[in-house]
Amino acid sequence: MHDEQLLRYSRHILLPGIDVEGQEKLLQACVLVVGVGGLGSPVALYLAASGVGKLVLVDDDKVELSNLQRQIAHQTSDIGRAKVESGRDAVVALNPDIEVELIAERLAGDVMLAAVKGVDVVVDCSDNFATRFALNQACVRTRTPLVSGAAIRSEGQLSVFDFRRAESPCYRCLYSPDAGDEQLNCSEAGVLAPIVGVMGSLQALETVKVLTDFGETLTGRLLLLDGATMECRTLKLGKDPSCPVCGRQ
Ligand SMILES: [Zn+2]
Repeated sequence: MHDEQLLRYSRHILLPGIDVEGQEKLLQACVLVVGVGGLGSPVALYLAASGVGKLVLVDDDKVELSNLQRQIAHQTSDIGRAKVESGRDAVVALNPDIEVELIAERLAGDVMLAAVKGVDVVVDCSDNFATRFALNQACVRTRTPLVSGAAIRSEGQLSVFDFRRAESPCYRCLYSPDAGDEQLNCSEAGVLAPIVGVMGSLQALETVKVLTDFGETLTGRLLLLDGATMECRTLKLGKDPSCPVCGRQ
C-alpha cells in the first residue's frame, strides 16, 4: 500500500481485526454484486469505500424515476442510463482505485457460472427468485461464499452461505421455489426507502467480514429485521440433509 492508501484506509487499519493485513486482503479481493438497485447501491458504495479491489456489477435494467426513492447509487440525471454504468460512475467517483467490470445482462446458465467462478464473494442484491435460486446453485458448485439479502415493505432479511464450510446450509435449504409469494417484489408491495439501505449496508458488512475473517459472519443464521417495530431476530439455520442443491455433498 502506498501512503495515500494508508491514509484512505487508516480507520480500517486501526482496527485490530483488520490491520494492514486485512486491508491488503480487501484490496486484492473481487466481489460480484448481482443487482445495482436498492440493496446493490449501498453494497457497491460501501465495498468501494472499504477498498475492495475489484467489483463486478451486474444489472440488465435502466434507471427509472421510481428507482430514485431508494437506489442511492443513481442520480436524477442518470434516468434512462444503464444501472451498471451509473453505478460504476458512483463507485469510481468515491474511490478511483477500484477496478469495475460491468455485466449489463441478467445472469443465467454458463455466463452466471463463469462470473461466479472468478470471484471471492457473491452478493445477491437481485429482486427475483429465479436469479436467487440459480446464484445459490452456482455458488454451491464453485464453493463461493454467498451474501444474501432481501427487503420488502418495512422488513429485511439477511444471511451468509459460506460454502467453504461443509456445515453451511444453502439458500435452497431455507426456501422452496414453490413458496407462495414467490413473485412478490417491491414494485407490487412497496418498500420503505431506508430499509434497503440498512440491509444493503449489512450485506456489505458481512462481505467485508467474509473477506477478512473479521468477527463472526451470519453463516448458519438468518437475521430478520422489521423496521416498523425495530424488532430484530436471529434464527439458527441448519443444513437440510434432503436439500436437492447441497444435500448430496
Ligand atoms: Zn441446501
